[in-house]
Amino acid sequence: MSVVVFAENWEGKFKKSTYEAISYGSEIAKQVGGSVTAVVIGNAGDDDIISLGKYGAQKVLSVKNDKLNSLNPSAFASAIVQASQKENAKVVIVSYTYSGRSVAGRVAVKLKGGLVAGATALPSSTSPFTIRKKCFSGKGLTDVTVSSDVKVIGLFPNSFHINTAEGSAAIENFSPSFSDSDFNSTSKEIKKTSGKVVLTEAEIVVSGGRGLKGPENWGMVEQLAELLGAATACSKPVADVGWRPHHEHVGQTGITIAPNLYIAIGISGAIQHLAGVSSSKVMVAINIDKEAPFFKAANYGICGDAFEVVPKLIEEVKKFKAQH
Ligand SMILES: Cc1cc2nc3c(=O)[nH]c(=O)nc-3n(C[C@H](O)[C@H](O)[C@H](O)COP(=O)(O)OP(=O)(O)OC[C@H]3O[C@@H](n4cnc5c(N)ncnc54)[C@H](O)[C@@H]3O)c2cc1C
Repeated sequence: MSVVVFAENWEGKFKKSTYEAISYGSEIAKQVGGSVTAVVIGNAGDDDIISLGKYGAQKVLSVKNDKLNSLNPSAFASAIVQASQKENAKVVIVSYTYSGRSVAGRVAVKLKGGLVAGATALPSSTSPFTIRKKCFSGKGLTDVTVSSDVKVIGLFPNSFHINTAEGSAAIENFSPSFSDSDFNSTSKEIKKTSGKVVLTEAEIVVSGGRGLKGPENWGMVEQLAELLGAATACSKPVADVGWRPHHEHVGQTGITIAPNLYIAIGISGAIQHLAGVSSSKVMVAINIDKEAPFFKAANYGICGDAFEVVPKLIEEVKKFKAQH
C-alpha cells in the first residue's frame, strides 16, 4: 500500500504547498503503514523531482506529455487516478490550492473515494479515518469520518509544516492512457502576475479596505508589503470599484488565505471578509474606529488613522531592517 501525493508545480517549479503535502503524506504513511509516491505532471526538472525525497517521497511517478504542460483538471485527475491504482494507494493527497481543488473532486469521483475538502491536520484516528477540516467558508472546523476504501485528502495550504530529511526519490517515468474526453476542456489563456509574491502562497499579506479612500493611496500599502516581502490584498468593495484588481479580493466570495501574518488596513472586519482571512495565524487590524468589528477578531489592534499609522510602521520596519 502507498500514499500518493500530487506534487503540483508551476512551470516546472514545485510550490511550497507541494512540500507541505509531501511532508503531510509522509506522516500519514507512518500512521497507516506504507510509502509515499509523488505524482509529478509536466515539465519539472529531474534535479527538482529527485529533491522531493527530502520531504519524504520515496518514489516519483513522472508524467511527461506535451498536452499536460499547463493545468487540465480532467487529464491531471486521470493521471493521478491511474498512478494511485498502480500503487494500490488507499490515501491520495492533493494540495487544496485553486488548481488542486479542480483536480481533487475529480480524483475522488473516479476512485469512488471520500473527499476531505480543506483538511487542516493529520488524521486524529485512522480507524475510523477521521480528519479535521475547514467548513462554513473557513469560519469553522469540523471532524469528518471517511469510510470509503480510498481516502482523498485536499490539504489546505499553510496548514502543515514542511519536514526535511536526507533522501532522494527514485524517478519512474509513467505514461497513463488518456481518452479524448480527458481533453474536453483546455486552457486558452493564462494571465501571470510577475515580480510579486503570490497571494495564495504568501507568508505575510498586507491588505487594504475602503478606509484607504482611493487607489491613489495604495502606494503606502505596497511599500509596506514590499518591505515585509508580503503580498497585497483588498476587501471586496475595493475590487468592485476597481481600485484594485479582482485577484486581490479576499473573503467569502474572493480568495481564502492562511498566511502567518495578515495586516488589515482600513477594513471593517465584516463577517464575509473574515471568512477568507480568519485562518491567518496572526491578524493585525489598523482602523480609526475603535468599535470596528475587526478588533474583536484581530490578535493585535492599532486604533488610529491609517495615513498616520502606516507611514510610521514603514519607518519602523526600515529602521529594524537596517539594524538586522
Ligand atoms: C454575499 C456577500 C459576500 C461578500 N463577500 C465579501 C468578500 O469576499 N470579501 C469582502 O471583503 N467583503 C465581502 N462582502 C462585503 C462585506 O460585507 C463588507 O461590505 C466589506 O468587507 C467591507 O469592506 P471594507 O471593510 O473595505 O469597507 P467599509 O465597510 O466601508 O469599512 C471601511 C473601514 O475603514 C475604516 N477607516 C475609515 N477611514 C480610515 C482611516 N483613515 N484609517 C483607518 N481606518 C479607516 C472605517 O472605520 C471602516 O471600519 C460580501 C458581502 C456579501 C453580502
